[in-house]
Amino acid sequence: MPPRALITGITGQDGAYLARFLLGKGYEVHGMVRRASTGSFERLTTIQHRLHLHQADLLDQLSLVTLLKTVQPSEVYNLAAQTFVPTSFVQPMLTAEFTALGVTRVLEAIRLVDPTIRFYQASSSEMFGRVRQEPQTENTPFWPRSPYGVAKAYGHWITVNYRESYGMFAVSGILFNHESPLRGIEFVTRKVSDGVARIKFGVQEKLRMGNLDSQRDWGFAGDYVEAMWMMLSQSTPEDFVVATGVKHSVRELLEKAFARAGLNWQDHVEVDPALLRPADVNTLRGDASKAREKLGWRPRIAFDELVAMMVDADLERVRREQTIDRDD
Ligand code: GDP
Repeated sequence: MPPRALITGITGQDGAYLARFLLGKGYEVHGMVRRASTGSFERLTTIQHRLHLHQADLLDQLSLVTLLKTVQPSEVYNLAAQTFVPTSFVQPMLTAEFTALGVTRVLEAIRLVDPTIRFYQASSSEMFGRVRQEPQTENTPFWPRSPYGVAKAYGHWITVNYRESYGMFAVSGILFNHESPLRGIEFVTRKVSDGVARIKFGVQEKLRMGNLDSQRDWGFAGDYVEAMWMMLSQSTPEDFVVATGVKHSVRELLEKAFARAGLNWQDHVEVDPALLRPADVNTLRGDASKAREKLGWRPRIAFDELVAMMVDADLERVRREQTIDRDD
């Protein structure tokens, strides 16, 4: 019998990478999807025939119980959430329902249906917010700066609480920003790689940006999903920071990304005050020593390679779209 994993949020960037990784490890991979009038399976097209997809919703407790009874997984990866920080300021209640209470609903379903299921919670470096020390470790206190960060801090602690209260194998992976060509277009790295490609092909003239001084520890999503699986493969449940340990500013990201396409970012970027956040996280840099020592995890792709990969992928996509438009 192959091991069976259930991924919530399988249609997202991390879900797509994790599903591929687990298929490669011989898992039977099940995914939870929410019904929507428009499809959202574009990240899964090449593997969809190998996946088992089920309808359920983090807002619907009974649907989660039914899902676990049907799938009977040995591992659950909770990647589903409202994950975009600016949206969390516009819809703070909905963000809390999905990103905070949704975690409790999954944990409750596991506790009721089969408390031996191993549970991974996708926690976030946004919990560190106004950072109390640098670099941030598993022991750095949280000071979240957005309704999203606050909701993720709740999700982290409820995971710890179910582990301590019920002896469940529940772990929280505190992942720093992780990107790829599959990243949602609204996040800064992908917004930039997409903007560079559109400007290069003359589809767009300017790229409007928010806070250019902001610094992040950006890694590659494909590397980070391996750490999720490693955490569930340990003999004892523990929480881990996953990061590269190197930070860069949004300005450096712009420089590198435009240069990759032979452009000068200063000719094309405009700062739009409307894109500044009510409160921002100015700097993040993680210390993944514990993951390196206990899991044997290390990132393979560094910032320059990541930016090049994303820009190249968007250049190729926009070039293809242009060709199709011309043929019409
Ligand atoms: P986050 O760390 O989860 O908020 O990931 P994002 O990719 O959305 O944002 C990373 C940082 O880039 C934040 O500090 C933003 O304020 C900054 N930033 C600057 N300009 C932009 C922009 O146009 N879009 C986004 N999404 N972020 C921007």
